[in-house]
Amino acid sequence: MELEYEDYIVVFDEVKNMAYQYFNYHSDIQSHYKFPVNIEFSIDDLEHQSIALSNRKSEGNYLVKISAGMLKELWFLANKLSKDTNFLSLVKTSENSQKAIRNYLFYFYVDLIICHEWSHIFCGHLDFIEDCFLKGVKILSDDEFGINKILELEADSKAVTLVLARLAENYNNISSDIYGTKTSHSLERTWEIFVYSTLSLFDYWESKSNKISESHPPIPYRVFTSIMFVSGEVSDNQGIRNQLPFIGRNEDEINASFMKILIKFYIEYKNQDIENISTELVKAFKHCSKIGKGIEELNLNDYRLIKAKWT
Ligand SMILES: [Zn+2]
Repeated sequence: MELEYEDYIVVFDEVKNMAYQYFNYHSDIQSHYKFPVNIEFSIDDLEHQSIALSNRKSEGNYLVKISAGMLKELWFLANKLSKDTNFLSLVKTSENSQKAIRNYLFYFYVDLIICHEWSHIFCGHLDFIEDCFLKGVKILSDDEFGINKILELEADSKAVTLVLARLAENYNNISSDIYGTKTSHSLERTWEIFVYSTLSLFDYWESKSNKISESHPPIPYRVFTSIMFVSGEVSDNQGIRNQLPFIGRNEDEINASFMKILIKFYIEYKNQDIENISTELVKAFKHCSKIGKGIEELNLNDYRLIKAKWT
């Protein structure tokens, strides 16, 4: 399904609103920053590419840009998934639920992108990069533990946690819209849909772009490591745990519930065998602890724009 011109205008406005709510206006966001922070947001054509980026203009002033091409691509992926029989084996299908899934997935994806860029900013990555530039420290590297990879993984993990927090707030309504009913079964199924969708997005990017693999870590690592970090963040966030009781009560249980869906995704959706998945998992565990160490060694905490741990 194509988006019409009028639809684009509506979508652009909604996306801009989402972005500004996060960055600047949402009730207590400014109080979390260490000093006043201003983040501009724009949707541009950016030479017909599918891209999102964040820039540092000066201390406390940043810019996030998303290309129209990226929004279009997210829309197509959301639409494709909402009609995918594999994916839909998760849900009771009707035209209304298909449309509800498509729309929720689209905005969920946009949320993820906005939060990823925002995370680069509030985690202090852009200020850190500026400092590295001044000191002549190289950021980009092919090494899987290169600085660029560490920053990307951290931004992914923060973004996923932020988006899940927002999802959890509206969860009951979303589940009713998708299923037409609200039972513990449908709530849990809806949860699976969003985790599957996140995995599908990473997977889609991997299949599509060579460019991303130069600057970002390999997808299985990226996903496994993110999930481990996210489990830690979610276990600290009582709001999310209260809204989504089935995901577990502590870090280990939460991690296990994510892993269950992740393994299911690789087996059912990607047709991978369990041996392959186990090998990736072992590598990812090692990878994860090194990344955690890397974040400490880079002294990224000194660059944070926020006062304390915040998800
Ligand atoms: Zn990034």
